[in-house]
Amino acid sequence: ALARHFPITEGVLLKRRTGAVRAVDGVDLTVRPAETLGIVGESGCGKSTLASLLMALDRPTSGSVVIDGQDPFALSSRELRTVRRSVQMVLQDPYTALNPRMTAGQIVGEPFAIHPEAVPRADRGRRVDELLETVGLDPTHRDRYPHQFSGGQRQRLGIARALALGPRLLLCDEPVSALDVSVQAQVLNLLQELRRDLRLACVFISHDLAVVQHLCDRIAVMYLGRIVETGTREQIYTTPRHPYTRALLAAAPVPDPGRRAADDEHLLEGDLPSPASPPSGCRFRTRCPYAREQCLVEPELRTRDGAEHPTACHFPITRRST
Ligand code: SF4
Ligand code: MG
Repeated sequence: ALARHFPITEGVLLKRRTGAVRAVDGVDLTVRPAETLGIVGESGCGKSTLASLLMALDRPTSGSVVIDGQDPFALSSRELRTVRRSVQMVLQDPYTALNPRMTAGQIVGEPFAIHPEAVPRADRGRRVDELLETVGLDPTHRDRYPHQFSGGQRQRLGIARALALGPRLLLCDEPVSALDVSVQAQVLNLLQELRRDLRLACVFISHDLAVVQHLCDRIAVMYLGRIVETGTREQIYTTPRHPYTRALLAAAPVPDPGRRAADDEHLLEGDLPSPASPPSGCRFRTRCPYAREQCLVEPELRTRDGAEHPTACHFPITRRST
């Protein structure tokens, strides 16, 4: 019954063209209903900047963001409100994201004060209870305060609040990294159910390839504001082609006994250069074990050598991972 509150989206196109500026350049991503796109990279790689572009909180300094076929910055303020409603965010830290003086019911219902047109006043109490149930919380706990909930329950409250306005795109920025490992899987399972049952498009931002592997249909790997490789989960995990993706996978504690790092797999070395002044040419060249002179020219993100998924590397790795 809840599904009718969440209309099926046509697809959400998120786009930004090249420009020599700031953290996110040349990003061109599409997320479809019921699909989850993982954006992976080290902190400082531009993931959160990308998120604020997608939320239409931040105007791109060049290029464009297209959400559901529309450029949010070409819209009237009323239309922009509608776009903002359709994209909601789940934040990393459930401890600071919730107002300690508001009850669970007030927190989940807060978006209705900002968008009163979304749900008639008389229906809001019932709607809050539905939302609490949707995220696996007991509606009779609606008058409790955040400190009376566990960390995982607080993140569920944050998710319920993000669902209140019936978004079509849910942006999750490191949503489980502040939680105990034992609780992470429960929250990930909830997100998995939601995107399936509500046909939500999800963007899942994480530094953790093991977390992304469970949830994401497609993955974009970012390095210093560039997408260096993008593909299906299968392509990224079984035939990673960019040396940075390989290094991330080799470093990730993927709980798969059949998988072991090949001898020639290099772990990441060196520090992340400043995103404000990235290396010229390939931005990964200062840490790449395969860097050569050609790497002084920036590689485009495109399919190469008959591979099925695009990578931004002049010398992509062609061996299957073992
Ligand atoms: Fe390494 Fe060169 Fe590929 Fe960049 S373009 S990842 S430096 S091999
Ligand atoms: Mg961040």
